Amino acid sequence: MDHLCQSYPSRASRRRRDVFCFAACAAFLWMSASAALAQAQNAGANFRKHPVTFAKPLTVYFVDVEGGQSTLFVTPSHQSLLVDTGWPDNDGRDANRILQVVKQAGLDHIDYLLITHFHVDHVGGVPNLVKKMHIKTFIDHGPNRETTESATEQGFERYQTVLAQLHAKHILAKPGETIPLTGLTTTIVSADGDTIDTALPGAGEPNPYCKNCPTRPPDKTENGRSVGFVMQYGKMRLVDLGDLTWDKEMHLMCPVNKLGEMDVYVVSHHGWYPSSSPAFVDGIAPRVAIMDNGEKKGGSPGPWETIEKSPRIKNLWQLHYSAEGGAQHNVAAPYIANLQGANVKDGSDGHYIRLLAYPNGKLVVFNSRTQQSKTYPAPQ
Ligand SMILES: [Zn+2]
Repeated sequence: MDHLCQSYPSRASRRRRDVFCFAACAAFLWMSASAALAQAQNAGANFRKHPVTFAKPLTVYFVDVEGGQSTLFVTPSHQSLLVDTGWPDNDGRDANRILQVVKQAGLDHIDYLLITHFHVDHVGGVPNLVKKMHIKTFIDHGPNRETTESATEQGFERYQTVLAQLHAKHILAKPGETIPLTGLTTTIVSADGDTIDTALPGAGEPNPYCKNCPTRPPDKTENGRSVGFVMQYGKMRLVDLGDLTWDKEMHLMCPVNKLGEMDVYVVSHHGWYPSSSPAFVDGIAPRVAIMDNGEKKGGSPGPWETIEKSPRIKNLWQLHYSAEGGAQHNVAAPYIANLQGANVKDGSDGHYIRLLAYPNGKLVVFNSRTQQSKTYPAPQ
């Protein structure tokens, strides 16, 4: 700016020069600032018009509840869906383990708690959990249908007491309806023994794997009434059917595949033999499967083999070593979160598995025991 002020030699002139300089500099700065602001506003407009997207992942924590289910979904917009709560008792072990991942995810409440069905390894942890965190809305399939089982009835009644005490918001799950999470589509495909009538968008082709798949008689327990859903985030597709049984899988998959192919299979029923029919597993052809088994619950050789031999599988991950699987039917140690003998009840153990799922289908699976991740690139 000096060049504006070089031709004023006298003292009075210098004063005039200083005043001029001040005015000129101020004007220049104002113009520069205005130009910069306009540029920034234009850039902002362009950014809004052509956003540079660095897609955030869907994050899923598979909490170790020793052979029950508790799976925390955290959406890219930071909404949360917790599927089931593990067992009661054990000094609140399962609620503590859920709380650990809730904190890690940076959450201070749960938006939706979905109870797949009223067996005690799924609904049992509710009374402990609500003491530790605020849950905004509960989702379930309606009344308990297994009233002859006292443990199931008791779990259901305790859950009803919690709903009444909290005056909680409640959604009755119905096949075909969606869970209102933004940025992704979460469609309920089974509830209270019913399944969707029509195929999901993009699905509905005849399923060749029905032909050689044996049928099984209808399940009469709460398992077959599990609320199941398919979550789609961009191209990424994940299925979680709770403990839905073989007969209901066939309703979803035969003669046409109403679900379509999946990137991720949250292995039904802890990998126990009454679920994971070949018609279902081969039909959805997951790239990655994650099994919430305990050491002494789930992880049966039949489902294990079906998953390992399915057409697109890259890896099956297990929350625990499976005693039932033995030497022949367990994955390698890096893919197991809790090794043989890791069943600790005091809340100090319980390694989890975390999945990051991107909208292009890229997956990253992390084992909290080994602190190692494995990346599965998006399918070409
Ligand atoms: Zn179960």
